[in-house]
Amino acid sequence: VTDAAATYAAAGPIVRSAFPTAIPASDYIAWTVSALDEYGLTPERTLPILVTCRDEVLSDLKALVGGAWGLTFSGTSLGGAFTMGRTGFQAAWRHIPEAELPLRLAVFIFPHIGVDRDGTIGSIHRQGRANASQACGAIISMHQEFKSGATDLSFDSSDPEMSLLRQGVAPYLLGRPVPDLVALTEIVRDVAVMDLLKTGVANAGEVADLALFSGILINGPDETSWVLPDLANLRHHDDSELVTLVPPNSGGS
Ligand SMILES: [Zn+2]
Repeated sequence: VTDAAATYAAAGPIVRSAFPTAIPASDYIAWTVSALDEYGLTPERTLPILVTCRDEVLSDLKALVGGAWGLTFSGTSLGGAFTMGRTGFQAAWRHIPEAELPLRLAVFIFPHIGVDRDGTIGSIHRQGRANASQACGAIISMHQEFKSGATDLSFDSSDPEMSLLRQGVAPYLLGRPVPDLVALTEIVRDVAVMDLLKTGVANAGEVADLALFSGILINGPDETSWVLPDLANLRHHDDSELVTLVPPNSGGS
């Protein structure tokens, strides 16, 4: 048993008490490679795009995606909002060699949430800091604003990414109570997916095979990283049929 395996074995029950279907992020990312292989989306021919938060605790996720899929186009923005827009998305897929049509893209959309060693959701113990801190800080900050009723939805050019995060989520909170942090993080995830489909598929859909993986990245105890899978599918450039991929489950391991 390696150190990493022992660390994950110890953290697993704590993470799964909050998120029963969570699986180690390394298992999930390894699965994405095998899931797409039969459709010709190999790491050699596919550009990965990672949409997640700026927080340094996501360096593990970034390394996993980069290790499995190669040099990764960055879609980081506070909270994990999809802010690269049409221009950013076009920049990504125009980097793929034209000789290799269709273009192949694998987009990973993973906002994050902490679970600390006490099982507290929204909290992590960061290396070198005695006290727990927040994750995701941006989503928690937005959550507190919505709960206080003092949310400013105007675009603040001195705080562009937070402005876009709030503006994206706000329409989904109209006429309903402010959801808990987990549900709000799910909304952030789903808004990013919708923004990707609006800007990305509309612009690259005819020339690209686009794989989409979404979920929530859980920063667990002892710097472990877990995935709570949501969407996993593939849009073929010449086929309107969506291919649904089935992520591994936690399997009680
Ligand atoms: Zn964050």
